[in-house]
Amino acid sequence: MLIDFHTHTDASADGECSMQALAEAAHARGAFAVAVTDHCEIAELNGRWGEEGTRRSWQAYQALAAAQGTERDGFHLLFGIELGGANADFAAADALLGRYPFDFVIGSMHNLKGRRDFYYLDYAKEDANALFSQYLTQVEALIQWGNFDTLGHLTYPLRYITGENGIPIDWGYHMPQLRRLLGALARSGRALELNTAGQRKPYGALLRDDLVLREFARQGGEYVTIGSDSHTAQDVCAGIPEAMALLRECGFGRVTYYVARRPQQLPLL
Ligand SMILES: [Zn+2]
Ligand SMILES: [Zn+2]
Repeated sequence: MLIDFHTHTDASADGECSMQALAEAAHARGAFAVAVTDHCEIAELNGRWGEEGTRRSWQAYQALAAAQGTERDGFHLLFGIELGGANADFAAADALLGRYPFDFVIGSMHNLKGRRDFYYLDYAKEDANALFSQYLTQVEALIQWGNFDTLGHLTYPLRYITGENGIPIDWGYHMPQLRRLLGALARSGRALELNTAGQRKPYGALLRDDLVLREFARQGGEYVTIGSDSHTAQDVCAGIPEAMALLRECGFGRVTYYVARRPQQLPLL
C-alpha cells in the first residue's frame, strides 16, 4: 500500500499544487494515506515561510473536509506540518503546535541556528565536515526537545555538500556522533524519516540514507516514516515503492504513519 507522509501544497511558500489537486493525485495513485505537511519555519514565524503557511494549509484542509471529506475509497488525507528549525525558539514551536489539531509533525532542520538554509551556502568558503558536525549537534538538541513525530530528512545538508558540490563527508569522523544521535532518537520512541526527494534532484540519488537507516535499526529504532517531499501533484508518492524496498533491505518490516500524533504500523509492500 502506498503511503506518503511528506507533501507540500501551495500553502507553502514553495508549493505548487492546491490541496484538492494533491488529494486527487494521491487517490488516483491508489494511496492509502497521505499527510499534507506544509512548511512553518520557527525562525521566520511572522513571514511567508512561517505560520501563514500553516494557517492557509489548515483552512484548505478544513474546506476540503467540508466539501468532500478527507477519506474516500480507503484513502485518507491527514493534516501535518513540516516544522523547520524549532531550535530557533522551542517555546514558540510548542505554542504553534498547540494552535492546530495536527495528526503528524515532521521536525526538520534546513539551516544551522542563525544561518541561512544549506541550499544558499557557498561551499567553496565553508568547512563542510565542520558544518555537518554542527548540524548533527543541533539535531541532537532537537531530539532532546522532542515535540515532533518524525525527524525529517536527516541527510538534508548532504544534498548540497555532496550532491551538488561533490564534497565527500568523512563518515569515520561523524559516525560516533551519528550513532549517539540515532540511539537517542530510537530511545525517544520517535520516528526517522526516509525522504525520497534526492532521487528527483539533478544528482539523482538518496545520499547515504541506507547507512543512516541501518544504524537506526542497530540502535533499536522501530518507527520509520517515508515521504516524497512533493511540491507538485505530479510528485505525490514519487519514489515510495523504492523507499519501501530500501527499508526492507535495511532491516525494517513495517512503515509508520500517524493519526492524531499516534504511531500506526503498516506492513511493507
Ligand atoms: Zn524539508
Ligand atoms: Zn518538505
